This record gives sequence, C-alpha cells and structure tokens, in this order.
Amino acid sequence: MKKTLTAFFVLLTTVFNGFAVDMSQEINSATEKILPQVVEWRRHLHQNPELGNREFKTADFIEKRLRGLGLEVRTKIAKTGVVGVLKGDSPGPVIGLRADMDGLPVTERVNLPFASKEKTEYNGSQVGVMHACGHDSHVAMLLGTAEVLSKMKSKLRGTIVFIFQPAEEGPPVGEEGGAALMVKEGVMDNPKIDAIFGIHINAQTEIGKIKYKSGSFMAAADWFTIKVKGKQSHGSQPWLGVDPIAVASQIIGGLQMIVSRQSELTKAPVVITIGKINGGVRENIIPEEMTMAGTIRTLDDQMQKEVHERIKTTAQKIAESMGATAEVSIETKTLVTYNTPELVRQMLPSLAKSVGKENLVETEWTTGAEDFSYYRLKAPAFFFNVGGMPKDKNVKDAAPHHTPDFYIDDSRLDVGIKAFCNIVFDYQPMMKTARNSKDKIPMEILIEQVPVENYFPAQFFDVPFQPFGFESGFAF
Ligand SMILES: [Zn+2]
Ligand SMILES: [Zn+2]
Repeated sequence: MKKTLTAFFVLLTTVFNGFAVDMSQEINSATEKILPQVVEWRRHLHQNPELGNREFKTADFIEKRLRGLGLEVRTKIAKTGVVGVLKGDSPGPVIGLRADMDGLPVTERVNLPFASKEKTEYNGSQVGVMHACGHDSHVAMLLGTAEVLSKMKSKLRGTIVFIFQPAEEGPPVGEEGGAALMVKEGVMDNPKIDAIFGIHINAQTEIGKIKYKSGSFMAAADWFTIKVKGKQSHGSQPWLGVDPIAVASQIIGGLQMIVSRQSELTKAPVVITIGKINGGVRENIIPEEMTMAGTIRTLDDQMQKEVHERIKTTAQKIAESMGATAEVSIETKTLVTYNTPELVRQMLPSLAKSVGKENLVETEWTTGAEDFSYYRLKAPAFFFNVGGMPKDKNVKDAAPHHTPDFYIDDSRLDVGIKAFCNIVFDYQPMMKTARNSKDKIPMEILIEQVPVENYFPAQFFDVPFQPFGFESGFAF
C-alpha cells in the first residue's frame, strides 16, 4: 500500500512538474532585448520623482505603458496606484507582482545627467525630492516584466496582477495610503491573488545578486508617543511639584528593560528607540508635562503585541510610582515582512536560474521595515532584495538608502525582471495554502512563526550564507 502511495505521489509530482516548462532561456533573451529601454524608463522616473500619494505623473507613465501592452488597467487605487491585469491563454493561478512608486523628501547630491532637480512642499517647508530608495528601479523592472510576459501570453497559465503601489514611505500626515490602503481597497481580492512577490533594490548589495530570507525578514515598525504629566514647580524646590522630566528618564531606562530583561531574544530581536524628547522652557522651571516619541522593531507578531503591552505598563506604572501620569499611544506603520517558508522553498530554484546559484545569497533578518508586509494578510508572500551596488565598490562606501548620495548601478535591472518572470512560470499552487482554500487563508498559517532552520537549513540549496546583512532600503 505504502509503495502504491509513493508511486502515486511520484506520478502526481511528475504531472504537476509537467506543466512547468523551463522558460528561462526565452525569458533571458526577451529581457536582454528590452533592458536598454528599462534603464531609460528608470532614469526618466529618477529625474521626475514624486512624494507618496502624489505620484500623478508616475501613475500616468505606468498607465500609458500598461495600456500599450494591451493589459486591463485600473487606476486611482489607494490614491495614485495603478494595477495591470494580464490573462494568460490557459487557466492557472493568480500571481501578484508589486512595485512601489514613491520618492522621498531628500535633495539629490549625486552628479548624474539624470539627477533629480525636483522640489516640492513637505510638512510646510520646501524640500528636494529624490528617488533615494530606488523605487524608480522597481517601477521600471515591473514594467519590463509586464512587457516580457505580455509577449509570452500564449504560454502563460493563469493571471498576473501587476501592482504599482503609492506611498510605501508613508502617506502625508493625516492621509491614508500605501500597501495597507491597497489591501483595504481590494487589490488582493479581484481577481483573488494566490501568491504575491515583491523586490527591493539594495544599494549595499552588489549588482547581479539576490538576497533572500525565509520566514520573518523585515521588522514590524511601530511609532509611539508617551506624554508624561506632572506638576509644575520652581527648579529649586522639586518636592513641591512632580518632575515629568525625571519621570521620563526613569521610563526610558524601563523601556530598555523590556528589551534586555523581558523579551525572548533568542526567538527574535526587539529594538525600542526614543528618537525625540520635548519638554521644558527654562533652566529653573520644572515643567508640567513633557513628551517623548520613538519606534519599536519586532520580528514576531506575538512579540510585537507583548512589547506594546509592556511599554504601556512600564510607562504608566513608573509614572504612577512618582505621582505622575503617562499616556501611551502606539501606531503600527508596518507588520513583520514574513516570507512564507513553503513559497520561498518553492521559488528558490527560479531565483537561482535568474542570477546563477552562486549569486543567490541567504541573508539575516533586518530591523528595517516594509509595508509590503500588509499583502501577506491575504496571501502567501515573498519579498527579496536585488543588488544595486557597483561591482568595484566597498559596502562601507556605498551611501545608505534615504540619503542625498544614494546611488544604484542600473546596469543589472534585468535581474528583477528575470526573477519575476521565472517565478511566474514556475509557480505551482501550494498544498497547504492556496490549494485548500478559496476564501481567506487562515491567519495562523500566514503568521506562523516557525524556526526557519526546520524548514530551510542554510545548506539546503547549497548557497552561500551571509550571516550579517547590510539591508537598508526601508521606509519607517
Ligand atoms: Zn524602499
Ligand atoms: Zn525607503
């Protein structure tokens, strides 16, 4: 019986694999052909960056090209988002591919013929605008992917949804935006996406390389504010008042105890940073109140919830012990960017084909964050990095993302296109998730925090393991 079953599964696997014809050669030559065009698009976008929720020209640029390819196009999703739908000639899964579109309030300092000279108003002041995170390259690579795949329509199974998302770096104050709003407006639902993929160029990863991590990859980012209220007094007589600054200094110490004494650090890292303190007007006046604000980074959904609770308790109890009060508010900016292990395992050969096995590098988790994390509430997801650092450069000399000197070498944008296209042709619906549920995939499956090594030992694919990543390119 056991033998029969085994034979049956072997047969089943063969049949399934039979659907997947290796298209990598065809993808390679089609990509090489359009690469100069893709680089031109990227440079045009680089020269014309727009801030989050204001990507009007960028959206027009994308729409025009998608329509030119004969795709079904939807616009104004989550303000300025654009979605293109490509239906293959035979039925199959629905795959989402995502690129973010926004630039940053940074004034470019790189000496390039296509450097940005854009200026705009941001939070009431005049600022330069720059694609200082490389989202220009993401748009160009996804447009290139749409072009390659639309020409292979006759061989394509299923449907591809090209998602061009605004405001990854966060919407302007008081506005909604980004991936969370895209999800809220149903971008994952119609057609219902079975698996979603996204890439980020990385200025500290050499061109021609792909870096990935299974399971938790990038951190959840929360921003928080603590307002401490005491009682005003003369600076010479603190016993007549309640000093909110002294209380705050105790709270700051207490917050670090959450990291070092209360969080299970062998499970996942936790970071709590206070980035801002405001209070007081003069040396000899104890003020009535003060505020501080900071950010929390966690790489596990449960730990994120626990840290929130502990911050509230720590701040409130310390304040109470000194006769003050503390109001804590926490705003979640992104979730943990979690790469579904089964999906990662399935797609690694496709990534290896795209860059060569030796250029596919497993990396560590990063405390940077990405709003791509919201899509995994709806489908298994996989987000990875492609290299943008020139070959002759040292990692330490490569300017970080979000800085005026940020620079990427765009000669290897083919990597992203090849990776997306190979993924599309190789993807098979997964046993555990997409296959058994037409409705919402249970959250437990999506957010299951399984020790990665159980699923995916570093040696599994015989790829170099790099213990210390230099990931940046994150929003919050
Ligand atoms: Zn980014
Ligand atoms: Zn960024």
